[in-house]
Amino acid sequence: MSELTNKFPIIKDMQKGQEVMWFNLKINHSIPSDLTAADIEDARKRVERFAPYLEKVFPETAEHHGIIESPLKEIPKMKAALETFYEKELEGKLLLKCDSHLPISGSIKARGGIYEVLYFAEKIALESGGLSIEDDYSILADKKYKQLFANYSIAVGSTGNLGLSIGIMSAKLGFNVTVHMSADARQWKKDLLREKGVTVIEYEADYERAVEEGRKQASVDPNCHFIDDENSKTLFLGYAVAAKRVEAQLIRQNITVDAEHPLFVYLPCGVGGGPGGVAFGLKQIYGSHVHCFFAEPVQAPCMLLGVMTGQHHKISVQDIGLTGRTAADGLAVGRASGFVGQMIGHQLDGLFTVEDSKLFQFLSLIAKEEQIEIEPSAAAGFPGYFYTQKNQDYYNRIGQQAMNNSTHIIWATGGSMVPKDEMEGYIKKGNSLKNTES
Ligand SMILES: *Cc1c(COP(=O)(O)O)cnc(C)c1O
Repeated sequence: MSELTNKFPIIKDMQKGQEVMWFNLKINHSIPSDLTAADIEDARKRVERFAPYLEKVFPETAEHHGIIESPLKEIPKMKAALETFYEKELEGKLLLKCDSHLPISGSIKARGGIYEVLYFAEKIALESGGLSIEDDYSILADKKYKQLFANYSIAVGSTGNLGLSIGIMSAKLGFNVTVHMSADARQWKKDLLREKGVTVIEYEADYERAVEEGRKQASVDPNCHFIDDENSKTLFLGYAVAAKRVEAQLIRQNITVDAEHPLFVYLPCGVGGGPGGVAFGLKQIYGSHVHCFFAEPVQAPCMLLGVMTGQHHKISVQDIGLTGRTAADGLAVGRASGFVGQMIGHQLDGLFTVEDSKLFQFLSLIAKEEQIEIEPSAAAGFPGYFYTQKNQDYYNRIGQQAMNNSTHIIWATGGSMVPKDEMEGYIKKGNSLKNTES
């Protein structure tokens, strides 16, 4: 351990539960060859094939004809509030990617989680249901397909939101679905899933254990597909599709991304699939002109620890004496995905940690300033906008001119499914906390 802290002194601050910002000075823009732009395009086309089905069974997706997408919004009042909070003028345009308001399950998991369920359903329907990829997939809502899917089951281990996305989608298609929930999962998520006919198994232990149990139970049933949040390339590609959509949204908003107009993206990170997939997609499109940062809670900086030390999934936050506990659903992860760390870690500009109290403060601020309600995890990206400008070395590497012309996207990863009284409690909590930044 002392060898590790000698090599990476920042770990000493992490062990004290302090907020840290780590810039990746060895950043390298090489793209691993395991997955390519063609794989992302394949995923994009698959979701498009399912759009008529989704439009039919989830009326809330009708506005975008069955495409699960969220707005990319400029948030100037929040920018002003952050300048007051940090007592610093901040450059560039500040946007919020509102995955907090994605249809069907109200979090970024509606990308990867739902995509993997659709992928599995398509495979079965093509192989044994007489479906052809030229068909109008709304026929998948027919009884015939529901009966077919009822022969199969899907299992997943989750801290909450992944279970919500996979449970809702699988149950709708007709699969038997089991969600293995860790102790920190909210009661309302378990209730909602049970209401939809999902089997929820609860564990006293953390996310890692819930996944392990889920994997074990699924392995004895050949008709059961286990969705592996830590290693799934399918899930990862489902998230990566988001990058193509963001590209289109930026073009529509006349926002240029190039060497003189860099793009900064701040993504909350749990096990890594969501932020990793999005960052991977963005890197394919923008290369060195996009600067990606991951945000984690002070007690659960698993990706920072894995990427910085190069030990990836071989090291956990418990190994350095942290608890892995946080109020941020989805981020209470002690060990990062090794697959994601190796795919994207070297391409990140940096990773930073945030105290839970800040998450509540930022979610209150954005509710007040922009009338957008997000959950604690979804607020983790905000400090990044400050850190990239506060750190003089980093700022100089980007250059003043480029920073002036920059665009910053805070990826808001969840919120719209949170029950009203719970959201009011979050906002109240944020309002009661004082700004401790000094
Ligand atoms: C799952 C989740 C994340 C992080 O995604 P990972 O794939 O676990 O890294 C962030 N925010 C919310 C709200 C989530 O549910």
